Amino acid sequence: MLVFATETSCDETSVCLMENENIIQHITFSQEIHKKYGGVVPELASRSHLEKIQYMTNQLFLNNNIEPDKIDVFTATCGPGLIGSLLVGSTFTKSLAVSFKKPFIPINHLEGHILSTSFNNNIKFPNLVLLLTGGHTQVYLMKDEGCVELLGQSVDDAIGEAFDKTAKLIGLSYPGGSEIEREAINGNENKFVLPKPLVKEKNFNFSFSGIKTHISILTKKNKINKKFIKDLSASFQKNIAEILTEKIERGLERLKSDNITINSISVVGGVSNNKYIRKKIESVFIKYGIEIYYPLPEMMGDNAAMIAWACVKFYNKKKSDLFFKPKSRLNVRSVL
Ligand code: ZN
Repeated sequence: MLVFATETSCDETSVCLMENENIIQHITFSQEIHKKYGGVVPELASRSHLEKIQYMTNQLFLNNNIEPDKIDVFTATCGPGLIGSLLVGSTFTKSLAVSFKKPFIPINHLEGHILSTSFNNNIKFPNLVLLLTGGHTQVYLMKDEGCVELLGQSVDDAIGEAFDKTAKLIGLSYPGGSEIEREAINGNENKFVLPKPLVKEKNFNFSFSGIKTHISILTKKNKINKKFIKDLSASFQKNIAEILTEKIERGLERLKSDNITINSISVVGGVSNNKYIRKKIESVFIKYGIEIYYPLPEMMGDNAAMIAWACVKFYNKKKSDLFFKPKSRLNVRSVL
C-alpha cells in the first residue's frame, strides 16, 4: 500500500510517502516566521502552509520518481489544531484524492502521536502514553492495540506551552524547549524552588500555569543575567521532570488498585526530545520493570510520517471520507 500523507495542524508543513511500513521519504518545513512574535500566529501559519505544500509535494514525488496516480491512499491531519492550517493541508490532500479517484482517510493528529512509538517498538501492553506537546499534555491508557482511554490531561497550559512561556519570560527565543534545555546544562537546578500544582493527587491531571506566574514574579525580583537564565532554566526543567514522574508514579498506584499493571510507557510529542526529561523518566520507571519507548526522531515533533503510519496501521478500521470537516478540537476515539 502506497500512502501520501500531509500534516499542517500548527506551524510545521510536512509531507510523507510511506509504502506499507517503510518511509520512502518524509519532508518537514518548520515555519520560522513566528519567531519574532514569540509564538504561533494562526493567520501567518495557514498562509505559509499554502505557500509551501504544493512545492513540497512536487519535490516529494519528483525525488522518488513516483507518479501521484500510483498512490493507493491519500491521508491528512484533520484535527485538532489551528483551523486555517488544517483546512490548507486537508483540502489540498482531498483534492489529490478526488483527482486520482482514490480514498481519503482523515487522521486525528493526537492519534498520530499516540501510535508513533509503535512504528519502531514492539509495544508491551498495557501501555501508558504520555503525550507531551506544545498544544497538549495528556495521558492515555492503551490496554491493547488500538484500545485507547484518556486518563487525564493538563487543566490549563500544555507542557510545551509552559516551556515556551518560561523561555519568553527570561528573554529566550521561540520555540523555548530547546533553548531552555541548552541553558539548563550549566545551571544550578536547585537554585529556585518552583510550585508543583496537583502533584499530590492520585490522578493524571496536570497544571502548569501557576509555575509561569511564579517565574514571572522571580523575573521581577531578580536581575536577568546569564547566571539567572541558566539557573532558572535548570530549576524549571527539573521541576517539570519531577511533576511528570511524581504524577505518573501516583497514577500508576491508582491503576494498580484497579488491577492494571503498566508494562510500558511511550513518551511522545515534541517534548519527548528533551534529554533531561527522558533520563528522569527512565531513572524512575525502569526500576519498576517498565519499558520506555520513544518515537523515531523524525516522528517526535509534528510530522506527516506519524499520520501516514496511523493510516497504514489501522487501515482496515478506517473509512474513506472526503466530506470530513477538519475540527480545531477533536478527541481520540476509543478504537483508533
Ligand atoms: Zn503535535
